[in-house]
Amino acid sequence: MKRILITGGAGFLGSHLCDRFIKEGYHVIAMDNLITGEIRNIEHLYPLSNFEFHHHDVSQFIHIPGELDYILHFASPASPIDYLKIPIQTLKVGSLGIHNCLGLARVKNARVLIASTSEVYGDPTVHPQPEEYWGNVNPVGPRGVYDEAKRFQEAMTMAYHTFHGLETRIVRIFNTYGPRMRLNDGRVLPAFIGQALRGEDLTIFGDGSQTRSFCYVDDLVEGIYRLLLSDYPQPVNIGNPVEITIKEFAEEIIKLTGTNQKVVYKPLPTDDPKQRQPNISKAKAILDWEPKVSREEGLRITYEYFKSLPEEELYKAAYHREFTT
Ligand code: UDP
Repeated sequence: MKRILITGGAGFLGSHLCDRFIKEGYHVIAMDNLITGEIRNIEHLYPLSNFEFHHHDVSQFIHIPGELDYILHFASPASPIDYLKIPIQTLKVGSLGIHNCLGLARVKNARVLIASTSEVYGDPTVHPQPEEYWGNVNPVGPRGVYDEAKRFQEAMTMAYHTFHGLETRIVRIFNTYGPRMRLNDGRVLPAFIGQALRGEDLTIFGDGSQTRSFCYVDDLVEGIYRLLLSDYPQPVNIGNPVEITIKEFAEEIIKLTGTNQKVVYKPLPTDDPKQRQPNISKAKAILDWEPKVSREEGLRITYEYFKSLPEEELYKAAYHREFTT
């Protein structure tokens, strides 16, 4: 049985990856410090003998007994509200955390796949963004802690690949949505659905003309699975190229929830990218991958998930956890 370590395994993406690798017959070790991850995302896996959960901060030395075939590094705060609240941890998990993962991979002779992001392109001046584009990032702006941590993470991973001959893979993830997003993580989809369910107006930042391209989580997981098993060490974009303005997106959510809410306009956050759309030619050519789930279907499933949560979840303070650096 192949053994895989998934850091950030209790998070939104990490937990879906745990499910997928369990389904593929792997022994899955999920690791998470639960700063932004949630136990409820993985507790259905607890009874399985091929699943383990380690409550650990990967910015500290990682100890895993036994063999490892693969490591997926998905531990990181990943929404603007999270990394603005916990900037130091964001930088640490992208630097110290990846260093620990790469060191562990060398000892275990494991292949490493790291979660990078479309944020490495910053506020892009090239559209759509191919992997060859180097980006337009402000290192000292509020998003810098995330963007630069992820850029450093890519550089570190490449260095281990070229210098130590480690097998590495890099996925650049574009906006992804689905069940298990946190209602209070500040991202646009849970924000809008939460507002609609509470009967509040939907808050559009800026004039709503900025664009994003939303990928359903199952499509993303399929792309990551294929990339891990491929032999391609350069970064690969995985995302859904269907682009939409945030204003149109708000209208879709209002229609989906049938709540007739109004939209209100709030100031655009600093360095908020104006447009984002992945160029997925590489994923198509190398992985024979493209997204399959329409936004209509994906949003419907996600909305059902949010509706199924206990009602008090809807009213939890926007952000109420405590952190240490
Ligand atoms: N946004 C918005 N209202 C909200 C939350 C977000 O208009 O309540 C906008 C945000 O300014 C950005 C887009 O929606 O332009 C996507 O934001 P998100 O935080 O989901 O992800 P990003 O792609 O910016 O990292």
